Amino acid sequence: MAERLVSTNEERATAFGYPEPPQPDKYSKCVHCGFCLEVCPTYQQSSDENHSPRGRVYLIKQAALGDIPLDEAVIDPVMTCLDCRACESVCPSGVEVGNLIEHARGQIYAWQTEHGRLNRVQQFTLRHLFPYPKRLRWAGKFLRFYHRSGLRSLAHKTQITKLLPQHLRDYEDILPTPSSPTLTTWPTVTSPQTSPKGRVGLLTGCVMDALMSPINEATIRVVAHNGWEVVMPTQQVCCGALHVHAGDRLTARSLARTNIRAFLEADVDYVITNSAGCGAAMKEYPDLFEELSEEEYDLATQFANKVRDVSEFLVETGFEPPKHSISGAVTYHDACHLCHAQKIRQQPRRLIQSIPGIQFEEMPNADRCCGSAGIYNLTHPDMAGKLLDQKVADIPPDVDTVVLGNPGCLLQIKAGLNKHQRHVNVVHTVELLDLAYQQESGLES
Ligand code: SF4
Ligand code: SF4
Repeated sequence: MAERLVSTNEERATAFGYPEPPQPDKYSKCVHCGFCLEVCPTYQQSSDENHSPRGRVYLIKQAALGDIPLDEAVIDPVMTCLDCRACESVCPSGVEVGNLIEHARGQIYAWQTEHGRLNRVQQFTLRHLFPYPKRLRWAGKFLRFYHRSGLRSLAHKTQITKLLPQHLRDYEDILPTPSSPTLTTWPTVTSPQTSPKGRVGLLTGCVMDALMSPINEATIRVVAHNGWEVVMPTQQVCCGALHVHAGDRLTARSLARTNIRAFLEADVDYVITNSAGCGAAMKEYPDLFEELSEEEYDLATQFANKVRDVSEFLVETGFEPPKHSISGAVTYHDACHLCHAQKIRQQPRRLIQSIPGIQFEEMPNADRCCGSAGIYNLTHPDMAGKLLDQKVADIPPDVDTVVLGNPGCLLQIKAGLNKHQRHVNVVHTVELLDLAYQQESGLES
């Protein structure tokens, strides 16, 4: 029999024995209507009620009330959830499934920490790598060395990469050559050519800065092109999204505190991000302080009110439609944490369709998860692989570019296209807009 995390007793003590448990006003909202079943990727794959939103909410409620222990029968469905929040988009009762899952994972993580049961790789990356920008830069340097020294070609020639599990091999195949991090190579303040409309702070992000800094550079150019001064506070750190998703609320809170201080001290009108997961996490910083301190909660709310995804920011504040045309057949993938968590669907489409010459085609199931989901593709490769295959099959055959707004989805969909030998570009929305602006300025041929 699976070991219980926290034993129930005869008085039906809750199975959630640590601070910040899932809240009754949240799990009690579920009326078991089942509208969420048909949009839940894990239920669609498994047809198992326990792996549906309704089933997960019911299990969390039972554990909270002490009707069942917090053992594998609850842990597995909670950990198999993608935290994609597709269920929230259709739930008529407004059940915040993502919040319930994250708080339940907080209970599991706290127990695993207390009993020395944390996965060592997960513990190392969450606690000893992501919170430290310098270590991330060293990891980036190592990856650059791996690419540029010839080690990578050697590994491919000798086929040593075949020793890796298939899903890791798929990612190794498309691993971008890490570029120099934006935060250390760009000026910390970039001014527009005209008098600035205001001042925005860019979250450079950990994965984005270490692996995809050209997207940050494109973001800075696009925002400055539209008349805003862009600053990058040097004290900023990883947003903590991966930590919240994994249940490590302590580390997430510590990262949130650092970012709140860094950006509020920088006196910016907006905090912008080009990563869907980071945007959703930062807009939800107040949840990390709600049960802790009123003062910190107020500061987190002040910060969260300034946070915008870059597409949301450009449409809200008014952007200049590009004048130069780009020819291409383009489709758009909705990252879960943009469309379901932040309700941002039309803004990226408006930016794309503002570019003259672009032929835009909607893909079927554009808002269905691609399987990336933070590090889900590493922790649950089978489920993630099935979702990725579906996503690649949904990409219309006649498009040459998939546009999206999240680094995890970008790597995941690239890996899927590579695996299925489809020659389609994958770019971030701001990269496309930046290309149009650059051609307009005559910087590109
Ligand atoms: S749609 Fe909402 S209320 Fe209905 S079963 Fe799903 S979570 Fe519960
Ligand atoms: S967050 Fe996604 S995977 Fe989790 S229950 Fe909701 S729809 Fe299913």
